[in-house]
Amino acid sequence: MALEVTWDSKVCTHSGNCVKGLPKVFRVENGKFLIDPSGADDESVRAAVEACPSGALRIKPAQAAQRRPAR
Ligand code: SF4
Repeated sequence: MALEVTWDSKVCTHSGNCVKGLPKVFRVENGKFLIDPSGADDESVRAAVEACPSGALRIKPAQAAQRRPAR
């Protein structure tokens, strides 16, 4: 299952890093910012989220944390 990525429009500084770096995942269509995490492998999506200078992009917390086996 692809990662779920959220975007906070109030935090985004529109640097364009994400759309330039991973255009198959992050793109603007008709003035709307769209995210398709299935457009790249999880590692690339995680790297793009971490490279966002404003912190507007986040991976859903449940997927960001590594799961530990229950005791
Ligand atoms: S990399 Fe982050 S700050 Fe830059 S456009 Fe994308 S979401 Fe906005």
